Parts: sequence; structure tokens; C-alpha cells
Amino acid sequence: MILDVEATRSIRRAEVGTVRTMVGRVRARHVFKPERLIADTAYGTGPMLSWLADHGIAPYIPVIDKSGRNDGTFERADFTFDTESDTYICPGGKELKQYRRVLTKPGEPRPDKDGILRYRARKFDCEICPLMSRCCPKEPQRKVRWSIHEPSRNVARAIAQACIPD
Ligand code: SF4
Repeated sequence: MILDVEATRSIRRAEVGTVRTMVGRVRARHVFKPERLIADTAYGTGPMLSWLADHGIAPYIPVIDKSGRNDGTFERADFTFDTESDTYICPGGKELKQYRRVLTKPGEPRPDKDGILRYRARKFDCEICPLMSRCCPKEPQRKVRWSIHEPSRNVARAIAQACIPD
């Protein structure tokens, strides 16, 4: 049953933007609310997945994930996040932090303007590290990026995992 239609030019950003329009109209015009959204990878961006989470809609959508690496160097998954200290621990056992300075204002917004939290190793640690060639061969120090949309991506990943037949 088709409940709503929104035509756009075949531009990915425009197509993805129509989801919000159509879901909004369906929610406003009908007695039921969408519980799930099934779509292709184009819709698997962080902002879209967060928008769905904010609206209580389960994403059955492949996640666009650029955290992996195909050059053999360590991926983000090789770093361990420590919630208590808000740091990543690298395979060499060193800490990657967002800030080395003491924040003057507790509660200061932590992500950068693009919604990314950047954790950096100390240059000194990386320069003398025997793992540097497998970690950051083209940079003086390793950085790990974490998006504020990561929790919403994890929801989509968990749904995709649950859909894989045994
Ligand atoms: S290069 Fe730096 S971040 Fe990478 S494992 Fe070594 S110390 Fe850790």
C-alpha cells in the first residue's frame, strides 16, 4: 500500500531528504506511525540514522562506515575505548585523548563542528613506537575519529546482524 510519494531529481542528497518529508506526512495524516524504515545504503548516513532514532523508527538500512581501512593499518576497532577516562587505548598501550589541556568549562561541547570527536595520540609516543608502520605510517601521530552518530549506527548494525539467518 503506497501511503506517500515525493518526487525529486536523482540526486542522492535530495532523495534521502525526502524520507523526512514523507515520514512526517505519514505520521501527521494517518493513525499509525512508521516503526521501521527499509532502505538501501544511500540512506545509511550517520545523520539519517540519528534522525530515525530520534523519531523511534528502527533502521533496516546498511550502514555507511568509513572507519575500516584497506591498507593493512590498524582500524578503529583495534583501539579500545575506556569510558571512564574517555580515552582510546592503542595497540601499543598508549592513550589517545581529545584534549591534553584541562577544560576551563566543564560540560564544554566536545565534538568538533562536524559532529566528530577526534582522539589523538602523543606525537612523542608514536615517533618511538615499533608499531608505527602498522598504525600511522604517513602521519606523525595517530588519530581516531568517533562520530556523535555512532550509537545510531550501532543500532542499524545490530538490526542487520539480527537479520542474518543462522
Ligand atoms: S603508533 Fe602511536 S597510536 Fe599507534 S600503536 Fe604506536 S603509540 Fe599507539
